[in-house]
Amino acid sequence: MPLNLSHFRQRLLDELDKVEQSLQSSQSAGETVILDQSSVGRLSRMDALQQQAMAYELTERLQLFKRKAQAALNRLDGGTYGLCCQCGEEIDPSRLEHDPAAVFCLSCMGERDTAHHGH
Ligand SMILES: [Zn+2]
Repeated sequence: MPLNLSHFRQRLLDELDKVEQSLQSSQSAGETVILDQSSVGRLSRMDALQQQAMAYELTERLQLFKRKAQAALNRLDGGTYGLCCQCGEEIDPSRLEHDPAAVFCLSCMGERDTAHHGH
């Protein structure tokens, strides 16, 4: 059964939109911390730095997702969307429904997870 590509394209564009918004707010959160550093006490400065680190981590995650979603859109344009990047098998549509930017089929994903945890 062919995938409903326009449906997944819309999903990806929606997700990208949300990520873009979160990126903007988390980046401005990080900037606020830098500006406020001189005006806060030592203890709250520690808190501020911790918050900044968390904002930074969130930004990293969001940017990673953004790249993933953009790569998925490229695959949509290239006609390889929904195919596993490792074995070339079709990815389960219900899996794509859950994560439209999914790159690997379930078994390849499992292999990668196992390999990752093995170290
Ligand atoms: Zn695979």
